[in-house]
Amino acid sequence: MAAASPVVAAVDIGGTKILSAVVDAAGNILSTHLCLTEAARGTRATTDNIIKSVRAAICASGLSPRQIRGIGLGAPGISNPAEGVVYCSPNIPDWNAVPLRSIIEDGTGKRAFLINDANAAALGELAYGAAVGVKNYVYVTVSTGIGGGIIIDGKLYTGSRGMAGEVGHMVVEPDGMPCNCGSHGCWELYASGTAIARRAREKIVAGSPTALTGMAGGDPARIDAPMIARAARAGDNLSQQLIKETARYLAMGFGNIINVLNPELIVVGGGLTKMGGALMKPAFKQAGDWSYREMFRRTRFAIAKLGENSGVLGAAVWAREKLVETKAQTGKATLPLS
Ligand SMILES: [Zn+2]
Repeated sequence: MAAASPVVAAVDIGGTKILSAVVDAAGNILSTHLCLTEAARGTRATTDNIIKSVRAAICASGLSPRQIRGIGLGAPGISNPAEGVVYCSPNIPDWNAVPLRSIIEDGTGKRAFLINDANAAALGELAYGAAVGVKNYVYVTVSTGIGGGIIIDGKLYTGSRGMAGEVGHMVVEPDGMPCNCGSHGCWELYASGTAIARRAREKIVAGSPTALTGMAGGDPARIDAPMIARAARAGDNLSQQLIKETARYLAMGFGNIINVLNPELIVVGGGLTKMGGALMKPAFKQAGDWSYREMFRRTRFAIAKLGENSGVLGAAVWAREKLVETKAQTGKATLPLS
């Protein structure tokens, strides 16, 4: 195997689940392993789970561990890839300046390369998904929160400290709700899956009649985005209204992205895309209400193609790119530590 196209392991670390995979240079997933993150049990338990999961994926691939050249680590939250440190992660509250890269390198004996999870998904869609061949594009994932990744001239734009692409925290309501990023009125508080469910509960408390109350068995805490989508399809007025409002907020964010970055393509992934055309179609169309017409006219929109695998595939791309960079800098191939 040439050093420029090695087989690598990759991990997509979520607040609930850890997905590990072994990926070859063509983007084929040779094996996977899925386990719980157990975020509530603290940093040691979480990082032990990542190490166990990577080892299990490598074992399941049938390859010798020596054939795995490195590990791509797609992690949620704010991190600095160059330092290998995750500063904070809303879904893993115990992670506070965790030196994730060195912990995983110590636990596996392999070189590891850290990247934000949504940035990883952006690279995955660029290499194998909806953005193949595109030079300037923005990936947006809309699920419990909103994350993003910016590709400029075919390369991931990471910013001065590796933290760029936090599109979910652009402000869309100046007097809006406080956000755990420290700001308020952030896009993800108005256009994510969590946001649409929260607004449904607020409307119900305010007395709006809706089929959602019955669908949730009288417990508003059970209302989620897929339930709202089902109710809307069945003709529930409130649910249709909520989807319309969410589409408007999504459009506002897309419009801002278009004005700032002039991408040729915006790819949208994440759980909310499963709500179907009722949400995304109007959101894409109305983005023109919030951006320069000339730029909007030339921006294409697409739904992500790689589904649950965009994160691991992108983390694998990142690890491979970093291995090649390291080789270029040192003049020799980066070998596994073990
Ligand atoms: Zn925020």
